[in-house]
Amino acid sequence: MNTPTQEQMELVRRTLERRAAQLKLELAEHGEIHDRTDAGPGVADTKDLASSQATDEVGAAEVERDRDELRQIEAAFQRLAQGRYGQCVDCGDTIDAARLAAQPAATRCLTCQQQREHAQHPGEH
Ligand SMILES: [Zn+2]
Repeated sequence: MNTPTQEQMELVRRTLERRAAQLKLELAEHGEIHDRTDAGPGVADTKDLASSQATDEVGAAEVERDRDELRQIEAAFQRLAQGRYGQCVDCGDTIDAARLAAQPAATRCLTCQQQREHAQHPGEH
C-alpha cells in the first residue's frame, strides 16, 4: 500500500485546479450553449436552441466532454478532501501513479476502466 505523500497531493491539487480553470474557460467560450434542458424545467428558450443546435453540434459535444471532465475533477477534489484520492472507486485498489499523472481525475484503476469500457453492451451477458 503506497499512499501518496502530502507533497504529491499538493501537486495533484494544483494540477486539478489548473485543469478546472482551463475547462471553465473553454466552457465560457461556448457560453451560448450554457442553458441545457437539464438546467431547469420549462425555462429554456427551446425555439432559439433548436435553430442553433445543428451548427453547434460539434461544439456541443466538446462542451459535453468538458463538463464531464469538470465533474470528474470536482469529484477528485472531494476525494482529496476525504483522503481517498488515488483509490479505485470500483475495487478500492490504489490507482497507478503513472495513470494519475496522465489523468489526475481518474476514478478507476486501469483494470476496472478497461472492464467498464468492455461492458458497453449491458444485458448481453
Ligand atoms: Zn479497480
